[in-house]
Amino acid sequence: MLLPIVQYGHPTLRKVSGDVTKDYDGLDKLISDMWDTMYKAEGIGLAAPQIGRNIRLFVIDATCLKDDHPEVADFKRVFLNAHILESSEKLVDSAEGCLSLPGINETVKRSEWVKVRYTNVETFEEKEEIIDGYCAIVFQHEYDHLEGKVFTDHLGALKKRLIKGKLTSISAGKVRTHYRVLLP
Ligand code: ZN
Repeated sequence: MLLPIVQYGHPTLRKVSGDVTKDYDGLDKLISDMWDTMYKAEGIGLAAPQIGRNIRLFVIDATCLKDDHPEVADFKRVFLNAHILESSEKLVDSAEGCLSLPGINETVKRSEWVKVRYTNVETFEEKEEIIDGYCAIVFQHEYDHLEGKVFTDHLGALKKRLIKGKLTSISAGKVRTHYRVLLP
């Protein structure tokens, strides 16, 4: 089932999301709906706050970018209850966009690698892992959504001022998308 994607300005994008327990109602269906929604919108990641739920869940399928970034060749994953434990001081440039901020593409800084803890969605066991390269960049973008952040928060003051009008247009529903949206 396709879900509408929450647009910039909606309060769920600004809340810190909480962990989920094993008995969270309809988790499997929710994940399946998030995959459908992400693929239909042609995104490479989708976080639960973007479909209006403040829970620590996101899905990523960056495999389509494998020609540019070989390390994402099998990076199709569900991350539940993700927490970043450590991140590299070394930062890299990352050109990003977001289904909740259509039409905005900007370069931000991301850590080169992150050490993360998350729950395996099938076994409900906790796992720790170091994620690096382009996988780390996509992970950090989605992880921001769980922390109530969006990628443009990482821009400098001047850039922020330059995109302010675009953000207002998104919130007002004036930006056309090929997927269904939920306005603030
Ligand atoms: Zn996003």
